[in-house]
Amino acid sequence: MSNTKIVENTEHEMIRKSVRALCERFPEDYWRETDEKDAYPTAFVQALTEEGWLSVLIPEEYGGAGLGMTEACIILEEINRSGGNSGACHAQMYTMGALLRHGNEDQKRRYLPKIASGELRLQAFGITEPTAGSDTTSIQTFAERVGDKYVVHGQKIWTSRAAHSDLMLLLARTTPKDQVAKKTDGLSLFILDMKEQADKIDIRPIDTMINHATTEVFFEGAEIPVENRIGEEGKGFRYVLGGMNAERILIASESIGDGMYFVDKAVQYANEREVFGRPIGKNQGVQFPISKGYMDIQAAKLMRDKAAEMFDAGMDCGAEANMSKYLASEATWRAANAAMDTFGGYGFAKEYHIERKFREARLFIVAPITNNLVVSYVGQHVLGLPRSF
Ligand SMILES: Cc1cc2nc3c(=O)[nH]c(=O)nc-3n(C[C@H](O)[C@H](O)[C@H](O)COP(=O)(O)OP(=O)(O)OC[C@H]3O[C@@H](n4cnc5c(N)ncnc54)[C@H](O)[C@@H]3O)c2cc1C
Repeated sequence: MSNTKIVENTEHEMIRKSVRALCERFPEDYWRETDEKDAYPTAFVQALTEEGWLSVLIPEEYGGAGLGMTEACIILEEINRSGGNSGACHAQMYTMGALLRHGNEDQKRRYLPKIASGELRLQAFGITEPTAGSDTTSIQTFAERVGDKYVVHGQKIWTSRAAHSDLMLLLARTTPKDQVAKKTDGLSLFILDMKEQADKIDIRPIDTMINHATTEVFFEGAEIPVENRIGEEGKGFRYVLGGMNAERILIASESIGDGMYFVDKAVQYANEREVFGRPIGKNQGVQFPISKGYMDIQAAKLMRDKAAEMFDAGMDCGAEANMSKYLASEATWRAANAAMDTFGGYGFAKEYHIERKFREARLFIVAPITNNLVVSYVGQHVLGLPRSF
């Protein structure tokens, strides 16, 4: 692997500029309005799909751009830096990993070209369950093999975008936990056609602090043909792990985009706002938290770049992916607070947009994995400290 890039290449600069140009068509008022109405940003997702940005990870032979994780990171980072929220569509990028790496040729030919063209949406990722929480191997949703199909019963929670997706990447038990040698065995990964099985799936929206189109999903005998199982039965957990690394690196990128949004906004406001006859940014009490936020975000970005580069090189990047998500979300949360302080009372006024971003940025400390779990992963798997659970 080459050393992490210091200067971005021209292709990356071009991607940044093009995504920025697209985002200018969806200014902050657009996001404020969708947030207030709790509405899905359909026009934005459509524009992103039409310009091909959502399918960059799909190889050219299946209709995508055939780019790598680094390029995908740049796209999501720019969306969030512009004031937008990639949460509306980011899953299409990370769910792709499992299909690309572990799907068979038939599955790739059936789904990838339609996903690339926007005809099919793969925006839902069904992992989390109410009773299992962070303990993924304790999920109970069960897919029972009946002839040439699986019949699914159970419940997922926090399945974002389920109402705005045609397909769901679903992790379910195919062998009960008490009948497997290793708790990570007996889980299988499926592509579930939610539109086709709509009468056996109940999707209930959850009212949340941010506009995230997240839901509870109940499976009441939903059927999945055997040819829609990804890889071998019982090995699904290891297939989602690769996808989870992609998810963490991409989420770190969104978080970095949010962080730079807060820094950009705070710098501009601190230079413009005059109190006591001088710009508030002249006061080091205002200036230093913004500078510190910027430095922390730049450091997190280096870890994100390293993780993305390792992912693209096919290397094991579990530690780097987790660390980049942790560092980015914590750095951005500090920058978010610096921006709130800089804006004073106006930070709370919706027309300044800071409060919306503040709510959105908080999510990444909790999802897709809580930072406690990341710290525990590093303790146990990177440093060799004793296992605590
Ligand atoms: C808006 C939103 C969107 C989401 N979208 C999706 C999605 O699309 N698909 C999906 O599958 N999931 C999704 N999630 C779920 C998310 O991944 C989980 O919320 C997250 O993994 C934490 O699980 P939990 O909420 O059950 O928390 P819990 O597991 O109940 O944890 C609660 C708290 O206890 C701590 N804790 C628990 N055990 C330990 C331990 N052993 N050591 C230290 N601390 C511990 C946690 O760190 C956390 O702080 C989403 C969540 C939200 C809020």
